[in-house]
Amino acid sequence: MSQFANYIDGQWVEGASASRNVNPSNLDDIIGEFAQADADQTQRAISAARRAFAQWSMSTPQQRFDLLDQVGSSILARKAELGRLLAREEGKTLPEAIGEVGRAGQIFKFFAGEALRIGGETVPSVRPGMTVEVTREPLGVIGLITPWNFPIAIPAWKIAPALAYGNTVVIKPADLVPASTWELVRIIAEAGAPAGVINLVMGRGAVVGEALVSSPDVDAVSFTGSVSTGRAIGAKCFASGKKFQLEMGGKNPMVVLDDADLDVAVEACINGAFYSTGQRCTASSRLIVTEGIYDRFIDAMKVRMRALKVGDALDAGTHIGPVVDDKQLQQDERYIAIAREEGGTVFGGERIERGTRGYFLSPALVTDTTPAMRINREEVFGPVASVIKVKDYNEALSVANDTEFGLSAGICTTSLKYSSHFRRHVQAGMVMVNAATAGVDYHVPFGGRKGSSYGPREQGSYAREFYTVVKTAYVSPGAV
Ligand code: NAD
Repeated sequence: MSQFANYIDGQWVEGASASRNVNPSNLDDIIGEFAQADADQTQRAISAARRAFAQWSMSTPQQRFDLLDQVGSSILARKAELGRLLAREEGKTLPEAIGEVGRAGQIFKFFAGEALRIGGETVPSVRPGMTVEVTREPLGVIGLITPWNFPIAIPAWKIAPALAYGNTVVIKPADLVPASTWELVRIIAEAGAPAGVINLVMGRGAVVGEALVSSPDVDAVSFTGSVSTGRAIGAKCFASGKKFQLEMGGKNPMVVLDDADLDVAVEACINGAFYSTGQRCTASSRLIVTEGIYDRFIDAMKVRMRALKVGDALDAGTHIGPVVDDKQLQQDERYIAIAREEGGTVFGGERIERGTRGYFLSPALVTDTTPAMRINREEVFGPVASVIKVKDYNEALSVANDTEFGLSAGICTTSLKYSSHFRRHVQAGMVMVNAATAGVDYHVPFGGRKGSSYGPREQGSYAREFYTVVKTAYVSPGAV
């Protein structure tokens, strides 16, 4: 079986132990044994990043452009192969996985350009003879902690800006899906990143993640994952004076108004709720539907859902791959049971047998729900959407905002009045009109409000707010 080592200070090094990466479409398909770092090894990676920072932070924008541009080209050239690996380890369908890899490649291309565009400002001082210069500098060593649902795109959208702005990196991918990040780090190493600029330490959150968060040698932590882990990490970072950024869960509303184009609304809801097995922080998990279109909408959703093929992520024609692992499958089933107990009516949501041992679940639509039910308050993170019937737009908006989360929100309507009002008044970081709540561009800011996010936005040129620190210099020519 293939063995995959950690990458520390420009060397591939065995871990303290190893863990198996298993294909959720076929539990008999083992992707490989991946090294598990311990706290000492993590500290060695941090020290290597600290040493490398001295030079990398002084590298030219051209050097950083060249590295990132090369990484982007290599990812794009290997899109099909890396997509296959990603689909095997995470379970999203092959087209979705290839799309994610393509996005990772584009992110590196974008941030290659950002390395050149960093800029600064010169401002006349209010004092005679003085000039003020505002510039940005890298932060230092950045610890990156990523979740399992986007095994290459999320590492890419953290590593690329970190390196573009002159920081060095220690990344800990999710324990469940280390293979895509491992390949990404190999690509960065082979593209010529100096030793210590990028370090990979695989392993458990409580060991490797904890070592990153608690090390005084890490200057900042960028985390994506669940609310509970994120808040605990944030508290530790705050206590030790680290800069931190948290991207967490969602309970994203999709409003469907009476005047919506039914086909557009159903397509947006099927995509947003069930594609990528519903395992997206931006998934449309609450469908809020006005009463005039409600019956037609539910009927049309059921017809579309019956036509969705759940199966092996690599099979042509599969619309929905497996749930990522047994623990997540149990969580999905538990929420379906809770919804039933609280009075919901469930369509779908059953385990499915396929030719291989895998975690297959049919998509579930829960009707007859109220905003107070747990299915409408807590993140399920599976192919499970609930429906709330409302009287009109005003009630829809109020239900949409009745959540502790605020990542993405959508509305399906042909009314300019309602779409404009919704864009302004929904409490979310991202708003979609007549489009799924999931599926975003790579060159614009990504992030949420309320309990979903903390700190500056990721992606696009806004990423510099997190990955740089501003310096204000006052310059006087002195006596002439
Ligand atoms: P998780 O919180 O369980 O784990 C995320 C990462 O944190 C993993 O690498 C894990 O090993 C690590 N970790 C766990 N305990 C830790 C600790 N004590 N110290 C340091 N690190 C620790 O999340 P998950 O199950 O991997 O991912 C699913 C969650 O991610 C969902 O809530 C989803 O909404 C969220 N998510 C958010 C976004 C976003 O951008 N907002 C994107 C994707 C996923």
